[in-house]
Amino acid sequence: MVSTPLRPSSPLSSSLHVAIVGAGPAGSSAATFLAQQGARVTLLERGRFPRDKICGDGCTPRALWMLERLGLGTLPGGTEAAPVDSIHAISPGGVVLDVTIPPRLFGGKACVIPRQVLDERLVQRAVQAGAELREGVRVEGLERDANGVVLHCRDGESLRADLVLGCDGSPSVVRRALGAPDFPEHEGAFAVRAYYEGVRLSRPRSMAFYWEKELLPAYGWIFPLPGGRANVGLGLRADQLAASGAKLPELMERFCASSHVAAELAGARRVGKVKGHHLPFGSFAQHTTFDRALLLGDAAGFVNPLTGEGIEFALESGAFAAEAVAEAVAAGDLSARGLQGYARRWQTRFRTAFLLNRKLMFAFERPRLLDRTFRAADRNARVRDELADIISGEASRITWRFLAAVALGR
Ligand SMILES: Cc1cc2nc3c(=O)[nH]c(=O)nc-3n(C[C@H](O)[C@H](O)[C@H](O)COP(=O)(O)OP(=O)(O)OC[C@H]3O[C@@H](n4cnc5c(N)ncnc54)[C@H](O)[C@@H]3O)c2cc1C
Repeated sequence: MVSTPLRPSSPLSSSLHVAIVGAGPAGSSAATFLAQQGARVTLLERGRFPRDKICGDGCTPRALWMLERLGLGTLPGGTEAAPVDSIHAISPGGVVLDVTIPPRLFGGKACVIPRQVLDERLVQRAVQAGAELREGVRVEGLERDANGVVLHCRDGESLRADLVLGCDGSPSVVRRALGAPDFPEHEGAFAVRAYYEGVRLSRPRSMAFYWEKELLPAYGWIFPLPGGRANVGLGLRADQLAASGAKLPELMERFCASSHVAAELAGARRVGKVKGHHLPFGSFAQHTTFDRALLLGDAAGFVNPLTGEGIEFALESGAFAAEAVAEAVAAGDLSARGLQGYARRWQTRFRTAFLLNRKLMFAFERPRLLDRTFRAADRNARVRDELADIISGEASRITWRFLAAVALGR
C-alpha cells in the first residue's frame, strides 16, 4: 500500500498525546494522519472490529480519493467492494435518469463497500501508522483544564491527554460534554437500511435512487454489492418523520413493494434486520472547535443534507484536524483560538455545499420540480453534468443555465 503523508507543516512530537473517541471513518482518518506526523495517538472505540455500522455503504468519488490518500489503494475493499460509475434515478412522476459520473470528479469512480469491511481496513491503517487502538472502551464524559483533558470511561478508567477529538458519531458523548447544542429535529434525518442477497440488478454499476410518489418526502436507494448482494434503504428528515407518525420499517416495506424497487428485487431475499440511525446535517455545523478539543464527522454534523452522505466529510475532517493540530502545536496554543485553522479549513471546503444542498433538499421535496429537473437533465448534457456534481456533493452553486433549463423543461 502506498500512502501519501500530509504536508508536514510542523511535524508533531510523540510528547503530544491526542485521544480520539470513536474509530469510524473520522477517527481512523485523523488517527492515521496525526500518527504519520509523529503524534502519540490513542484511538478509543466502544465496539470491537470487525463491527457493523448502519449505512448505505456508498463511497463518493471524493471519499475514494480520500481513501487513496490514506493509503488504502484505488479500490479499497478489493473483491468485497462494488465499483460504480453512474447514477440511476427515478423521479416521483416516473422520469428515469441515467448519469455517468464525469471523469473530472476524481476520475469518475465511486464504489459501495460494506462498512464492516471499510471501517476495519481504515482502523488497521491507523494502527499501521502508529496509533494505539483500544477496543471495547466506552467514553462517558470528559473534563478539560489548562493542562489537558481527562476522559472518563464506563469501566471506571480515566485517561489523560493533551487534546481530544470527538469522532463518536451521532449522538456524540464528546459533543454533549463540550456543551455544544443538540441538533434541532429539522437539521437531521433518520434512515434505515437492510442487506439483500440473490439480487439481479438491471444496472449493477449504478447507485440507484428512487423518489416514489406515495412515499414522499422519503426517498430510497439500492446500492450494488458484489456476489448478487445489495444495500437497500430509505430516509427522511427527522421532523417530517415525527409529523407523519409513520414508522421507518413500515415505510421500508412499502418502498420495497413499490413497482420499480420490487422489479429490481424480484427473487431476492433480505438478510438480517432492517436497521436505522440518525444523520445530523452539515447546515447546522457551527460548534466544532473548543479549547483542547475538536469535533469531526457526524459528531460535528458533517452530512450532506440532500444525499445523506457523510463518509467523505468524516475522512476529510480527519485530514483537516491533523493539519490544524500541527499548526496549533507550532504556535504553542491548543486553545479554541489556536485550533481555528480546523474551522477555517472545513468551512472553506464544506460549508457552501452544505447550505446549497439544504436548499436543494427543500426543492427536491416538490415532486413536479424533481420531474422537471430530471427531464431537463435527460435532454441536456450540461444540466446532467451539473446534477452529477450536486448528487456527488461537489456543487457549491447552481448556474442560471441550470435554473433556466429546469424552468423551461429542456
Ligand atoms: C442509514 C444510513 C445510510 C447512510 N448511507 C451513507 C452512504 O451511502 N454514504 C455515505 O457517505 N454516508 C452515509 N451515511 C452517513 C455515514 O454513515 C456517516 O456520515 C459516517 O459513518 C460518519 O462517520 P464518523 O466516523 O463521523 O461516525 P461513525 O461512523 O458513526 O463512527 C463513530 C464511531 O464512534 C464509536 N463510538 C460512539 N460512541 C462512543 C463512545 N462513547 N466511546 C467510544 N466509542 C464510541 C462508534 O462505535 C463508531 O465506531 C448513512 C447513514 C445512515 C444512518
